[in-house]
Amino acid sequence: TLLAKLKDPSLATDKALIAGEWHSGGETGATFDVTNPSTGEVIATLPNMTRADAARAIDAAHRAQKLWAKKTGKERAAVLRKLYDLMVANADDLAAILTIEMGKPLAEARGEILYGASYVEWFGEEAKRVYGDTIPGHQQDKRIIVLKQPIGVVASITPWNFPNAILARKFAPAVAAGCAMVSKPAAETPLSALSLAVLAERAGLPAGVFNVVTSKKSSDIGQEFTENDKVRKLTFTGSTGVGKILMRQGAEQIMKLGLELGGNAPFIVFDDADLDAAVEGAMISKYRNNGQTCVCANRLYVQAGVYDAFAKKLVEKVAAMKVGDGFEEGVVAGPLITEKSVEKVEEHIADALEKGGAIAVGGKRDARGGLFFQPTILTGVTSAMKVAREETFGPVAPLFRFETEADVVEMANDTEFGLASYFYAKDLSRVFRVAEALEYGMVGINTGLISTEVAPFGGIKQSGQGREGSKYGIEDYVEVKYLCLQVD
Ligand code: ADP
Repeated sequence: TLLAKLKDPSLATDKALIAGEWHSGGETGATFDVTNPSTGEVIATLPNMTRADAARAIDAAHRAQKLWAKKTGKERAAVLRKLYDLMVANADDLAAILTIEMGKPLAEARGEILYGASYVEWFGEEAKRVYGDTIPGHQQDKRIIVLKQPIGVVASITPWNFPNAILARKFAPAVAAGCAMVSKPAAETPLSALSLAVLAERAGLPAGVFNVVTSKKSSDIGQEFTENDKVRKLTFTGSTGVGKILMRQGAEQIMKLGLELGGNAPFIVFDDADLDAAVEGAMISKYRNNGQTCVCANRLYVQAGVYDAFAKKLVEKVAAMKVGDGFEEGVVAGPLITEKSVEKVEEHIADALEKGGAIAVGGKRDARGGLFFQPTILTGVTSAMKVAREETFGPVAPLFRFETEADVVEMANDTEFGLASYFYAKDLSRVFRVAEALEYGMVGINTGLISTEVAPFGGIKQSGQGREGSKYGIEDYVEVKYLCLQVD
């Protein structure tokens, strides 16, 4: 069971947090179960909260935010620093909670916890540096001063694939800037969000500054978040479809939105690439989190001269991947999150086979059954197939063959998404040409791993708006106000 895996079982709470109080039931007393995707076992039962509960949390955040914003940056930084230390000290327990509710291998879960903590550390430091500006007056008797002030109450809706880190990189800049937050974690993985709230409380974050509303009725909560005019900003990570719904709903009150939506990342290997490095990068970019990240390589384009050699090396690596329960030693691919996810992977593979593609390795559900799927490589893939247009969000690498740089750039950009992209090449002029031509918010060059708290994470086109992490990340949580002062 879950509690037996923890040094500090109080980190795994089954209560929601509103106004500094832990609630085992919401307005209606209804509950929902959280299951371990590896075994199907119920690991916790949580309050299935409603709009009214969300509204209470928003009221609490509204009250708490006013006092929180009055603190100095240094005072807010001290709380975030303490939280960072607590996250690091409790990383093993936080990782176990993450693995049991989400399925990823324990080592990856631990990596996510430290990655999430790095945002808390970074934005704690930034809290002291939310600088304004002074602008030389436009007339002799005018002085102009620019202030940056916290937006106010921020609502957050987060997905299941990085239940700690995605929340941490919204929570940390919001709280650093002097905002208060009401968070609705994914119903599949609420325990990680709650464990963050337990530690935030221990770190001294005042009651009401961070609230966690647990619910399976995400559209109800989303409606309250977008229609309640005490909420001044909504930050969302999830699918482009739901992002559009929230944007429409928020339009009524011109709500500020931070959106991290779907991707369809190209991963390009040119003839002049270091092939072994490209294979390493592809493994990380494609199979990390079992292919369930929004920056995962979704389309692998390999230039004709190295296509066969690259495919052979990649097949060897993928065939050696160990699938299994995230707590088992040596496992690098856990279960997928839901039956629906497995069906989508099957559908994408069947569609590719029907249109002339071939399986080089994998292609089926794993012998363990349940939500386990074999890491897969498809060859002979073309742009007519679903894998080319939609995010598969599973352990499937489709290999496309291309001839020229111009062709591949055109194919890579031929999508409504624009989150992450990757390419491997050595020629310096090519590196700059391709990097500048790719219509993406992020470009990994000779690397398959681009996420870090010091850089601005985010997408263009239908992959979203706003940036998370880095000095740009805090800008999403402040309003700019200018003072125009007449002097004698
Ligand atoms: P994913 O495929 O990653 O689950 P979703 O966009 O469906 O992507 O889910 C991301 C988050 O958005 C989850 O917390 C989910 O509960 C929430 N969500 C889903 N539908 C809605 C909706 N209509 N309004 C608000 N939130 C929603």
